[in-house]
Amino acid sequence: MQNKIWLSSPHMGGNEQKFVKEAFDTNWIAPLGPNVEGFERDIQSYLQQDVYVGALNSGTAAIHLGLILLGVKAGDEVICQSMTFSASANPIRYLGATPVFIDSEKETWNLCPIALEEAIKDRIAKGNKPKAIIAVHLYGMPYQVGSIHAVADQYEIPVLEDSADALGSAYKGNKCGTFGAIGVLSFNGNKIITTSGGGALVAHSKERKDKAVFLSTQARDAAPHYQHSEIGYNYRMSNICAGIGRGQMEVLDQHVGYRRAMNAFYKQLFATIPAVTLFEEPNGDYHSNHWLSAITIDPEKANGKTAEQLRLHLEKTNIESRPLWKPMHLQPVFASFPYYGGTTAEKLFENGLCLPSGSNLNQDDRNRIKEAIQQFFS
Ligand SMILES: *Cc1c(COP(=O)(O)O)cnc(C)c1O
Repeated sequence: MQNKIWLSSPHMGGNEQKFVKEAFDTNWIAPLGPNVEGFERDIQSYLQQDVYVGALNSGTAAIHLGLILLGVKAGDEVICQSMTFSASANPIRYLGATPVFIDSEKETWNLCPIALEEAIKDRIAKGNKPKAIIAVHLYGMPYQVGSIHAVADQYEIPVLEDSADALGSAYKGNKCGTFGAIGVLSFNGNKIITTSGGGALVAHSKERKDKAVFLSTQARDAAPHYQHSEIGYNYRMSNICAGIGRGQMEVLDQHVGYRRAMNAFYKQLFATIPAVTLFEEPNGDYHSNHWLSAITIDPEKANGKTAEQLRLHLEKTNIESRPLWKPMHLQPVFASFPYYGGTTAEKLFENGLCLPSGSNLNQDDRNRIKEAIQQFFS
């Protein structure tokens, strides 16, 4: 069997071990230390905005703390993009709040501004104005930032920007992660850069960042003994993981370049296969890191060939691909919660597939992928 081509696997740059060794040499083996501060500074300067970054042990933790900072409490409603990974929505339930799911639009596959406004109006009419909106840059593709924030601003509802997939993406020249009242990044093993596991919360004031760090380190009051006036969490990033992150920040733009080159490779490949549409930037306002390249197959043009058959075909030659996220409103665990919109997300799930997109794929890998896909459609 030929070696496995992964959808998206960790890709080290080289200096990660230097920073980790420094942590060992100085005995900073703790959820604080110079790498944590250095990594936060690296991200802040990368985002090129007046932002304050708190490094945490996962993106999910950042969403959880973000919702707390936005004042979400039990019984509140929180709007959430349906087409996403479950980690976008789970923290709503950690807080005992109610998710209200929204369909996608067809261009960026993200939050549909029309369904969003319809939902807000209806929830307000029912006497429960949503406390926050969770908007996602799916697979690194920026959501319709202009339209979504116009609706959010009109109804004065803060946006929690789930940028877990989108470090290195931009909209109208501004980096993703900086648009929401709070931004969320993830450094899980399969993301554009990784700290093996980790995340970050992006805030627009030092007070808010400090509050996130306070909550992430067990909410300890300023006292010589252990004194607590609030419920705390153990969510801070370790100095070891942050060392990996510092090395990864040195190669982030390079990784974005490689992933965009994978997308260009697929564009060329599918140019001659009319049944397939590649997921692409709608226009020059959008700059995707193309964390994952994805396609949809038009059932009317595909002579009965389906995305699932393609997935199984690729699997036979040891090439990993994956269905798109199954929308949250179709998940058994979330089925009882309100949903607004049509069937866009559902159809994407039915006909879509994510293809190998890693920054470490080489020409041999591309040849194998090309051959397998052409064989399937011939
Ligand atoms: C990965 C991911 C998360 C969660 O991040 P973790 O670091 O794995 O907790 C949240 N939202 C989306 C869209 C993701 O892809």
